[in-house]
Amino acid sequence: MKHANISLFVPHMGCPHQCSFCNQKTISGSVNTLTPKEVTETLEKAVCDNNDPQNTEIAFFGGSFTAIPREYMVSLLEATKPFIEKGYFSGIRISTRPDAIDSEVLEILKSFNVRSVELGAQSTDEEVLKLNRRGHTRQDIIKASQLIKEKGFSLGLQMMTGLLGDTDEKSLKTCDDIISLKPDTVRIYPTVVLEGTKLGEMYKKGEYAPQNLEDAVNLCSKLLKRFYDNNIKVIRLGLHSGGNVEEGFLSGPYHPAFGELCESRIYLECLRNLLKGFNGQTDVTVFVNPREISKMTGQKGCNKKALSDDGYRITVKGDENLNKYEIKIQ
Ligand code: SF4
Repeated sequence: MKHANISLFVPHMGCPHQCSFCNQKTISGSVNTLTPKEVTETLEKAVCDNNDPQNTEIAFFGGSFTAIPREYMVSLLEATKPFIEKGYFSGIRISTRPDAIDSEVLEILKSFNVRSVELGAQSTDEEVLKLNRRGHTRQDIIKASQLIKEKGFSLGLQMMTGLLGDTDEKSLKTCDDIISLKPDTVRIYPTVVLEGTKLGEMYKKGEYAPQNLEDAVNLCSKLLKRFYDNNIKVIRLGLHSGGNVEEGFLSGPYHPAFGELCESRIYLECLRNLLKGFNGQTDVTVFVNPREISKMTGQKGCNKKALSDDGYRITVKGDENLNKYEIKIQ
């Protein structure tokens, strides 16, 4: 069964800082303050459409949930209570900042059936955190992650690539640091430059350049594979389409099927490695799991084309015995 979220956006409120890349309005497509009444209305509507309560969570996304005024935070959670008690949804997930987590707030979340806490870590490099005005340290990420796990929540960590002052090496180090914190889920977002942000201003003055799509796919495919090899589920790669991102978009590696591009790149690189040790044959039949054939082939056949440029003629076939990212050639 597929997991679903009923997303409720808590805009910018509660953020003590304005991160360099963030225009909350642009990201969430929502500027108004969410009220408990709106929570009730959204959930009432969602109940009617929801055939799978066991796999549907209420998700407070978009802001720094535990940094908003405490009374307001509790009033939003109170509004979810009747729906959780009646079993209409399986639980709640929230996203917040690493420096807005302590034992007290986690106890409150637990009492309202919050099960998953996602932290916007973005980078574990102190310089990158500072340059991008995150207002928290690497140690805050480590401390909050440990506390969330100790208290029995599912831990989600979000990281970004291509931030101001960032490099591929720093992103790979962030990936390793995140792996050592053993999160249940990860989201990876390549930085896109949005109107109304500090990075937007710097981009217009020529002081900041985002990654291009090719570089972002290259790096993010490596991150994705590293998390996969360490049994960590990446639940999102790249910003969602919709939510007005396209409207506020200035520059950067935004692509509506970014995740798929990265998965295809993993297949391309794995196959290239295999072919290095192959017998010089140029007509090659490649076997992958049948569900992965389109990723091996690549969007609009781009992997096939890249391999043809390398001098190979590829035929892709399915083999049920192979796992994800596993390739056999003959
Ligand atoms: S903490 Fe999150 S919501 Fe707040 S400004 Fe930074 S990125 Fe935006």
